Amino acid sequence: MMRSSTGTAWGPAWLRLLLGVLTVICGVLTMTSKPVAPVLLSAEPRWEPVPSASLAGEPGDPAPGAPEGRRTLVLYNTSTPGPVTSGEVYGTKAANLVSHSSAFELRQAANYQPGDMTGFSAVVYVGPEDGGPLPDAFLADVRAGQTPVLWLGYDINRLFDGDSGYAVRTGWRPDGWAERAIVGVDYKGVRLSRDSQAGASVRTRLLDTAKAKVLAESIHDDDSRTPWAVRSGTLTYVAEIPFSYVGSTDRYLAAADLIRATLSQSPPQQARALVRLEDVGPTANPVQLKQIADRLHSRGVPFSIALYPYYRDPKGIANSGTPTELRLVDRPEVVRALRYMIDRGGTIVLHGYTHQFGDGASGSDFEFYRARLNDENAVELLGPVPGDSVRWASERFALALGELAQVGLPDPEAFEFPHYTASAAGYQAATETFGVRYDRGTYFPGWCSTKCGDIAQADPAGMYTQAFPYLVRDVYGAVVVPENLGYIPPWSDAVELDHRIGEVLSAARALRVVDDGIASFFFHPYLGTEALDRLIDGITAAGYRFVSLSDASHR
Ligand SMILES: [Zn+2]
Repeated sequence: MMRSSTGTAWGPAWLRLLLGVLTVICGVLTMTSKPVAPVLLSAEPRWEPVPSASLAGEPGDPAPGAPEGRRTLVLYNTSTPGPVTSGEVYGTKAANLVSHSSAFELRQAANYQPGDMTGFSAVVYVGPEDGGPLPDAFLADVRAGQTPVLWLGYDINRLFDGDSGYAVRTGWRPDGWAERAIVGVDYKGVRLSRDSQAGASVRTRLLDTAKAKVLAESIHDDDSRTPWAVRSGTLTYVAEIPFSYVGSTDRYLAAADLIRATLSQSPPQQARALVRLEDVGPTANPVQLKQIADRLHSRGVPFSIALYPYYRDPKGIANSGTPTELRLVDRPEVVRALRYMIDRGGTIVLHGYTHQFGDGASGSDFEFYRARLNDENAVELLGPVPGDSVRWASERFALALGELAQVGLPDPEAFEFPHYTASAAGYQAATETFGVRYDRGTYFPGWCSTKCGDIAQADPAGMYTQAFPYLVRDVYGAVVVPENLGYIPPWSDAVELDHRIGEVLSAARALRVVDDGIASFFFHPYLGTEALDRLIDGITAAGYRFVSLSDASHR
């Protein structure tokens, strides 16, 4: 159902636009016998940023609701000076998490000068296995203990090797590699998962329990346990960089909470939850939309609606060979259903202009990135779209906002890229127009190596994604409302449905280890209310309260 790789030979953006408009006209003319009033043909693009754009910030600014006046130095170690290194990727992931609690500066550890951490409220350091040498000044400043430091990773021995008395003073020491595979992490009494492919971990030995406190334990494959996270004085240590092979019940959650706890002692909020109704477009069934809104409203559950205003299937891929073009203005009954939903606690999230590109079909195709299905029927990402730029993405946003305004719908309160995928230019455009995204972010090596915000350096070949357990402001400067529990795909039988629901609820329960966590899932309205009810029951039973998008995007 995805567009093929051969459909990429499109002209410049203006030509595509013109072709698009012409196709719509044809589509409208063939689909309705009524005279077509000119107002139906095209909506005026709306170029102004929406009100939520006031929440946009600079990379390094804290997320809304972070305690005032905190600044964190995020340092990463890398053996090579270039931007495309695992150290930089890990540093960026750490920085994204840090933003929940603090402003940050992201720097290479190799450039550290004596006293650089003075004036920062904390330091987060990530040391990959292939990192380079560390400046003595950095090690000395960590040992001096004037600034709280959270150290994630594999090169902790350097801190101890240079000072024979340090282990005695801190009450613990690293002791080579963990011999047995780590299959889980116990944090706050909750067993979090760990993928066996996640590689080695440092073994730590406690020497003095009066000085060092174990914050989390590795669970090995023979059920034995060793410290996974240790705190002594101002130093907190995590025995790996838990940012790869991350599942939804993963030890990543413990690291995210330790970052939060190191940077901010503010009291935790009531655990919040979000539900988003996904892929609502002009072809949606208005009766189903109203039913689901009634159900959520009667339960006191606010919700958001991921909406795209223009359905396109120029080759009829999803319509038995019949080319299909449909805009919101062509479906007044859907627009009425959307207003009905808004009156019952719904918030609009813009989910693209057409949710497709080129010859692809809306809903299944990518819009802001090239993708295709390979021979194994798996999605293969091919790179930015031809002509990709901040301007190109902004233009699509303007066209989409014009479509919403044309039918009298309110401005969206966030943007969600189709399939959570765009180029760095697309992300920058989204920050400028919307200020708030509602997703898992896609990032690129080189985007934020020595400074943030250089599109020219972003390397599509190394793209990676990150889900967040709480509200952050990512390295694109956008507020990111998290989605972290996933969704329920169509099921074939009751056993499969039970399994899918169980997965989402397990993720929600694991997320409770994160203070300030927001449990967030999405749901396709055509799947009906029964599964949705069970998800909401389970998430509520896990201690969460469902809130609106604007509640989640402001604190
Ligand atoms: Zn979608």
